[in-house]
Amino acid sequence: MAGFSERLAALLQQRRRDDLYRQRQTLQSAQGPVVRVDGLEYLNFCSNDYLGLAAHPRVIERFRQAAVEYGVGSGASHLVCGHSAPHHALEEALAAFTGRERALLYSSGYTANTGILTALLQRGDHVFEDRLNHASLLDGGLHSGARFQRFAHNDVRALEAKLARADGPRLVVVDGVFSMDGDTAPLAELARVCRMHDAWLMVDDAHGFGVLGERGVGSTEAARLAPDAVPILMATLGKALGTAGAFVAGSEQLIEGLIQQSRNYIYTTALPPAVAAASLEALALVTEEAWRRDYLATLIHRFRLGAEQLGLPLLPSASAIQPLLVGDASRALALSARLRERGFLIGAIRPPTVPAGTSRLRITLSAAHSETQVDQLLDQLAACWAAD
Ligand SMILES: *Cc1c(COP(=O)(O)O)cnc(C)c1O
Repeated sequence: MAGFSERLAALLQQRRRDDLYRQRQTLQSAQGPVVRVDGLEYLNFCSNDYLGLAAHPRVIERFRQAAVEYGVGSGASHLVCGHSAPHHALEEALAAFTGRERALLYSSGYTANTGILTALLQRGDHVFEDRLNHASLLDGGLHSGARFQRFAHNDVRALEAKLARADGPRLVVVDGVFSMDGDTAPLAELARVCRMHDAWLMVDDAHGFGVLGERGVGSTEAARLAPDAVPILMATLGKALGTAGAFVAGSEQLIEGLIQQSRNYIYTTALPPAVAAASLEALALVTEEAWRRDYLATLIHRFRLGAEQLGLPLLPSASAIQPLLVGDASRALALSARLRERGFLIGAIRPPTVPAGTSRLRITLSAAHSETQVDQLLDQLAACWAAD
């Protein structure tokens, strides 16, 4: 009796019954405001390509050149012989851009977060995480061996009460921009509380990096925080930068410590060097083309204004993530399907990704969208909500 087969059958059946079954769609085009699925074109409002760099000609060209020079695979882990010049140049550029001593690349945001937390934390330490943190942060904290405590979303006073009761090394971990709600962490207050209680603050800025702040450094720049207020800054390259991978930026000591003992860094093949080279080009575009951030901000404003006038259930988000709260999973799924019939790709986010009863349409805007496309989206949302 294996048992596994019965267990899987029960899982799949339950997921279907609860309208929580997940399915992939296969894209037949590059990422962009218009994508092709099953031979049909859709307006894409669910990608994290916030600045429209995933298929930018300069990023593609740099990738192509680096592939010719460095090949496709990195060949080994960073500590063996997989660390190449493009990786090194990208780490130095990211450190300079974020104003940190050093930066270290990981193959993905998921492995970075679990890798940082499990390497840094030990039994006897305390880790405090916002309840709505990304799964990779929660998983890393849970598996770290430290005492793991969640605090209510963005509730600095609740956090402070927990910090006051804990002793020994303390780490507070938050998303800069929350991935399913689009709201931001109160970083200045969090930094103040951490300083008062001698705790370290770690910020995962997957959705702020490249987008927020005057230069696009992200949530910490927008909150005007000095580098030492956030000893561990992590962000991903697969969102606004349009490439893949992730990095952590901090002190020389932090980065050397991770190189010595972060298992997710040590025991895995380095990113393809061409991905690092393409990321360098994307980072240059973030700096050179500030208009992408400004234009994205005008689209966000336009969308929120329109949605408000239509009475759509907006959440308090100022970011490119503009979820519409639906509640019921099957209703969210039905709305997403109806929008798809009308040529709009928008994901229905359901439990366990979000708490039960808070299923939503997660709309994401990009600097690659036009104002007309945003207006078309609003028209279709109005029609679908009215028909509901
Ligand atoms: C996407 C995301 C990650 C994971 O990054 P990947 O590079 O996709 O693995 C981590 N944290 C947050 C907040 C994210 O949104």
